[in-house]
Amino acid sequence: MPSDAKIQSFSSMASFMQRHPTNWKTIIFSTITFILLVGTLVTGQSLRQQIRYQTESLDNNLVKTIHDLNQLQREIYQLQLWILTTQGPLERSAFQQQLDITQSRFTIIKRRQQIQDLHPHVVDSLRQLDQDWGNLQTDIQRWNQQPTDPRLQKHIIDALTQLEIDANKAAILNSQQQWMSYQHLVQRSSNSLQLLSIITALFLGFGLFFGVLLAKFILTRQHLLKDLERSATIDDLTQIPNRRYFNQVFDQEWQRMQREQSPLSILLCDVDYFKLYNDHYGHQAGDQCLVAIASTLNQCMRRPADIVARYGGEEFIILLPNTQLQGAQQQADLIQQQLATLALPHQQSPISQHITISIGLVSQIPNHCYSATQLIANADKALYQAKAQGRNCSCQYKP
Ligand code: GH3
Ligand code: MG
Ligand code: MG
Repeated sequence: MPSDAKIQSFSSMASFMQRHPTNWKTIIFSTITFILLVGTLVTGQSLRQQIRYQTESLDNNLVKTIHDLNQLQREIYQLQLWILTTQGPLERSAFQQQLDITQSRFTIIKRRQQIQDLHPHVVDSLRQLDQDWGNLQTDIQRWNQQPTDPRLQKHIIDALTQLEIDANKAAILNSQQQWMSYQHLVQRSSNSLQLLSIITALFLGFGLFFGVLLAKFILTRQHLLKDLERSATIDDLTQIPNRRYFNQVFDQEWQRMQREQSPLSILLCDVDYFKLYNDHYGHQAGDQCLVAIASTLNQCMRRPADIVARYGGEEFIILLPNTQLQGAQQQADLIQQQLATLALPHQQSPISQHITISIGLVSQIPNHCYSATQLIANADKALYQAKAQGRNCSCQYKP
């Protein structure tokens, strides 16, 4: 992207942020909320996964160790049986095979003991088991040489029985210890989950609270802006557009009529002898009278583009786009007719029993030799003529 275009895009972004500061605050706030929410969910998910893995490995340990010890019991039992049933000379190879099987079982248990995370109590009892097996080997060797010695045979059988009982004990101890560490893990995990859910709930609560605050703030701000906008364009007393608004619309319509080469008409209205009205009826009644006049003028507007505004104290201005002088005159006549029908009493008026107004009319197709200000000045001149002609009438501007 060329650097000029980059600068332009950055400056348009900055001006957008300036024009819509509230929108940006909302976007930033929502993004942070979203990121934190996703973070909480991901943490919860990984914690759950960790618990699953650990539970699985605990289960594996439990099952494998118990399996080994059960096998060991079975093999010891085989040895017992073998020694009990042997009366005559030993079948060396078969006996040696049984001894080797038991020995290899001990080797497996020992190896597993090193790789698995077994509880120290279980490790101790397995070590004891291994040691007892070592001691028994010498007795078995002795008995191997004197297989008919009943005392030695009884001693070996008893030792093997004890070994079997100890293997059983070790298996029970292992499952008990595994179960305890499993419970401990579940408790620890549930505590973490509880803490996590409390944090999430707190965070959501705060998020909601600040969200509501922000929404309230935005709404109040929008109301204030609307009020401000309204009070900047609407007249407080009469509730019709004020002079400021009129000037804005007038400029736009002037340019539009210039483009379309269509006539733009202005009616400048002034209440006759209004000072006398105020003096007689009071200022408040004067205000009410202005409100009634403004409403009547407003009701006389026939096209959407026609507007009436309060121009000064007791002066009103009417803008009629796409209207020739003839049409403006008809509008002026209509207004005076409506005011006559309204018949607001004005005892002090030297010219009528009722409130009357004088109107200055002007119509022009905008061009470069003629300014918008000039149009209003000419409307004022026409109004002055109407006043000079005795008031309660309308006068067209004649250059
Ligand atoms: P003319 O026929 O020549 O226009 O006589 P006028 O008495 O209407 O003219 P003038 O300019 O002497 O007096 C205008 C009066 O309008 C004076 C002022 O107190 C009154 N006026 C202007 N604004 C308000 C308003 O908001 N409320 C009230 N009650 N009176 C206002
Ligand atoms: Mg006046
Ligand atoms: Mg007046």
